[in-house]
Amino acid sequence: MSIEDEIEANIAHVRAAIAEAAARANRSPDEITLVAVSKTKPLDLVRIAYNLGVTAFGENRVQEALPKIAAFHPADARWHMIGHLQTNKVGKALGAFDIVESVDSLRLAQALDTHARESGRRLPVLVQVNVSGEESKEGVPLADAETLARQMSTLPNLEMQGLMTIAPIVEHAEEARPVFRGLRELRERLREALPEYTWKHLSMGMTDDYMIAIEEGATIVRVGRAIFGER
Ligand SMILES: *Cc1c(COP(=O)(O)O)cnc(C)c1O
Repeated sequence: MSIEDEIEANIAHVRAAIAEAAARANRSPDEITLVAVSKTKPLDLVRIAYNLGVTAFGENRVQEALPKIAAFHPADARWHMIGHLQTNKVGKALGAFDIVESVDSLRLAQALDTHARESGRRLPVLVQVNVSGEESKEGVPLADAETLARQMSTLPNLEMQGLMTIAPIVEHAEEARPVFRGLRELRERLREALPEYTWKHLSMGMTDDYMIAIEEGATIVRVGRAIFGER
């Protein structure tokens, strides 16, 4: 099989699985955005996925992402920053990415707000939450998430569109379900606390667990290996 054929089959498989999971939860697959995570993969593969109808791409390192985005950013494509962002790279990241999913501290939020103002835009962001409490995971601790969101609501150049989480690595995807449910329940609380934001997005679910995440309400799934192959 050519790499084009492989990616085409992979995307068809992922799209079918998204539709099945949505159906199980009585949801429309149209409310779920597939973000193809292209980290470590060459731009040729991004172009192949785009030509097959994928329009959202995810990268986790600014350094790696910048040349890719500079070379490939058609008007209908969206690049998502999904990795830890250092405040000294905020300016560069803002010049390239359409949305930052990984805001997990006030310091980072303030830096993004300042740069967004300077570039005259309101930046879509998600608050990354460490739901599981695993020490190795990035994200604001669940218990501190509402405080961070309240602080971020004072930053006029950030548009909080929702929440993002990374589930822990587990043996069976089903074990990640409580983490996804925890993020959805946090969103309910934030909708009451800060109704001026839509909180429309729950970015949760990766190759091993996106079907469970969709059953629990994911509106963005970030899928790398199931589309582009093992890294
Ligand atoms: C790498 C990565 C993904 C995609 O992971 P796969 O297991 O390849 O689907 C999703 N989200 C984040 C934050 C990542 O770093």
